[in-house]
Amino acid sequence: MSGPHRLQGISASAGYAEGPLFDLDRTAAHYTVRATAADEKAALEAAIDAATARLAALIETADSAAADILEFQIAMLGDDALGRPAFAAIHAGQPADRAWRQALDAEIAGYDASDQDYFRARAADIRDIRDQVLRALTEDGDVQAPAGAILYGEDIAPTRFLETDWSCGGGIALKAGSTASHVAMLARSRGVPMVVGLGVVGLGGPPAKLAGPALLDAEHGGIVLSPSRAEIDAFRRSSSSFSARRDLAGTFLARPAMTKTGTAVRVQVNIADPSDVDGIDIATCDGVGLMRTEFLFGKALPDEETQYRAYRKVLEWAGEKPVTIRTVDAGGDKPVPGFTVKEGNPFLGLRGIRLSLARPQVFRVQIRALLRAAVHGSLKVMFPMIAVVEEYRQAVAMFAEEQAMLAARGIAHEMPPLGIMVEVPSVAIVPEAFAEAAFFSIGSNDLTQYVMAAARDNAAVAHLNSVRHPAVLRLVAAVTAFGEREGIPVSLCGDAGGDPASIRSLLEAGLRDLSVAPAQLAMAKAAVADVSV
Ligand code: PEP
Ligand code: MG
Repeated sequence: MSGPHRLQGISASAGYAEGPLFDLDRTAAHYTVRATAADEKAALEAAIDAATARLAALIETADSAAADILEFQIAMLGDDALGRPAFAAIHAGQPADRAWRQALDAEIAGYDASDQDYFRARAADIRDIRDQVLRALTEDGDVQAPAGAILYGEDIAPTRFLETDWSCGGGIALKAGSTASHVAMLARSRGVPMVVGLGVVGLGGPPAKLAGPALLDAEHGGIVLSPSRAEIDAFRRSSSSFSARRDLAGTFLARPAMTKTGTAVRVQVNIADPSDVDGIDIATCDGVGLMRTEFLFGKALPDEETQYRAYRKVLEWAGEKPVTIRTVDAGGDKPVPGFTVKEGNPFLGLRGIRLSLARPQVFRVQIRALLRAAVHGSLKVMFPMIAVVEEYRQAVAMFAEEQAMLAARGIAHEMPPLGIMVEVPSVAIVPEAFAEAAFFSIGSNDLTQYVMAAARDNAAVAHLNSVRHPAVLRLVAAVTAFGEREGIPVSLCGDAGGDPASIRSLLEAGLRDLSVAPAQLAMAKAAVADVSV
């Protein structure tokens, strides 16, 4: 897209929306200053209580992902440390609204300044908390977006998303935002079109004043403001083609994936939380190609029993189908408090297997849980961010040691096949050095960012971060061919596997085994059926 009324960002949730723009950043309602500092303090306390009560009421109707977000916000609101600077400012004579806003803005600035996407994404939660309390303080008329509107602004609060009725369409267009934010996750799971990063890449930047209808193309990551008749017509054609493709895709879900020329392609799913499998019919996929375990490490280091139960649940759900669980890949854009270290360049630092080997006491707990869970299904285990074969050997040796220990104690266990992620260029360029691994799983998200030197979470370089660049595709093809020759199974579990626009290139590169986000399963199978290989 180009031109003053077209802005380009990044798609965070594919789809199309046409409707009026609703300004998320409109100025807040007026606050009536109270008579004394004690009254200001009481007003802020009451507003915090009111905001907490509203969040608690929202939890009643929320699904588990949304409830997690709301519980996080309630916990933040209940933390005295958050409000302390505001109460100190009130004591010093400030009105409650300004005191609260300044205290929370300082907190938000800290999160925004983080070089880690995860923390920047959490800034949206703190902003949400700030506005919830301000809303209660000012008794803002609680302006709701009109039905079918495109919510446009700097960023969007998770509660705003949850309170919006999406049944009449509508979408989200953000100047900042992140594809890793809580709202982006919710939007993908609910099918709400969403684009982020419009203020980063847009030619001339977003308009100062919002007027008229807009066209949100969240399949390609763009928005057209004040469109012409011809633009509206072209948009509607793309939108109906997308709906038709999505409806048609639904009919592919129940069948095994096959190309136009009859080549079978295995399509597995990527999951994180064990509860992710609750909404998936195992008959619609070929197993779990990637279970990310960082999720389990989110709040605190999980003990062996917690991990064992999580892995066992997924294995029992999958029955005879394979489940590939990846050992913890903390670090990079996935920091884990109390485990990862603060680094200047975390994508090139102590993440994945490097961190597990550096913290063997934590790694061994996960290894024991995996060995014990293996008796409950068809488990495979893989190691993230392998760069040299010695890392693989050390990890394998630790599995053997823990296995011997479990055997000595008479505890039921099984040794699963142990494979590696192919996501560091050193592996993709010299796969023969890793021929002892039981299988390869290509992590195209990281492989692409390392080959192209373009961060996976930076809107400004998104145009460089493409799996379809010939340099990346050549490596994918070489690894796949090597696996074929040596009898080493090769699959791909990066997001490109579920991207209909990339599936043709991946199959042409020789891949026959993809693992995709559950929401992309149907579209991925439909895209496979459209390729002749
Ligand atoms: C990848 O890098 O492609 C991958 C699947 O791992 P993650 O996205 O968890 O880094
Ligand atoms: Mg990765």
